[in-house]
Amino acid sequence: MSQFMDRAVQLAVDNVKAGGEPFGAVLVKDGTIVSEGVNELHKHYDVSGHAELIAIRKAQQEKQTHDLSGYRMYASGEPCPMCLSAMYFAGITEVYYCQSVADAVEVGLDRSKVIYDDLKKLNTQRQVVKKQIRLREDQTNPMKEWDQR
Ligand code: ZN
Repeated sequence: MSQFMDRAVQLAVDNVKAGGEPFGAVLVKDGTIVSEGVNELHKHYDVSGHAELIAIRKAQQEKQTHDLSGYRMYASGEPCPMCLSAMYFAGITEVYYCQSVADAVEVGLDRSKVIYDDLKKLNTQRQVVKKQIRLREDQTNPMKEWDQR
């Protein structure tokens, strides 16, 4: 099991050497690495370019499925809320990480902590405030379209 974490950590170390942030991830099924990812924020203007999300995208593309239940995620850093949410959507329920959110804060990478802390607050007290704009009566209801398809 630790061989997969060793690989995730090595990916993170290599990514720092390549100018990126210190995050690597490995997705494993039945004892075999299916996909890998590293943080690519230094390569693309895409905030979703996190190691875990990239590993998930690659596996889903390769297997042509959204369902990654039974897969294990090995991440060098504790997943952020975005990546954790993607694991919920993909059905991944086993996640191992090496360095914690607190470890990341110590080196100035504090977004995960900020977001995890914010999510504990009421909607109206968060940095990102959600406000509902209801359907007009003359609009087609997409939820009903879905329900009646
Ligand atoms: Zn993330």
